[in-house]
Amino acid sequence: MRIASPVPHNERAMPLIPLPIPENTVHHLESLAGDIHRTYFAKYPPLRVRWGQQITRKRRRSIRLGSYNHVTAEIRIHPLLNSPYIPAFVVQSIIHHEYLHHVLGANHNRRFHSRERQYRHFRESQEWIRRNLFLLLGRRRSELQPRSVTPLPVPQPVAQMALF
Ligand SMILES: [Zn+2]
Repeated sequence: MRIASPVPHNERAMPLIPLPIPENTVHHLESLAGDIHRTYFAKYPPLRVRWGQQITRKRRRSIRLGSYNHVTAEIRIHPLLNSPYIPAFVVQSIIHHEYLHHVLGANHNRRFHSRERQYRHFRESQEWIRRNLFLLLGRRRSELQPRSVTPLPVPQPVAQMALF
């Protein structure tokens, strides 16, 4: 019986795709950022999004979860967010926020806030950050309880969270 000779592998039809470089990272920042860019900012060129440098492990009272550098047009995400305890939608909410600074400027004005709410997991990520901030700050939950019973103004600000 005849056995058909194997079809020669056409390398031009199937270009070799380089294997991804293994990263010592929990969240694949590039794909999280790519998703945000495609969904909300497709008409703008994609920005470079990187983890920031881990400086110290001191206990902190506040944390800057992300930043946008308008000179380099680069977004930095705090390296503490590169953790299995941080959901991807929280990391994406920071990326979305920083993209808005690229598009709308530095001010957290009404226009900024209304655009911010368009992120599909906006409420969940705000809520998650509010409830779990103590994890990010390296503190016990009880240490972050308000010391006084003075009611906070409504809407309640996200305590000590800084998104720049
Ligand atoms: Zn901001």
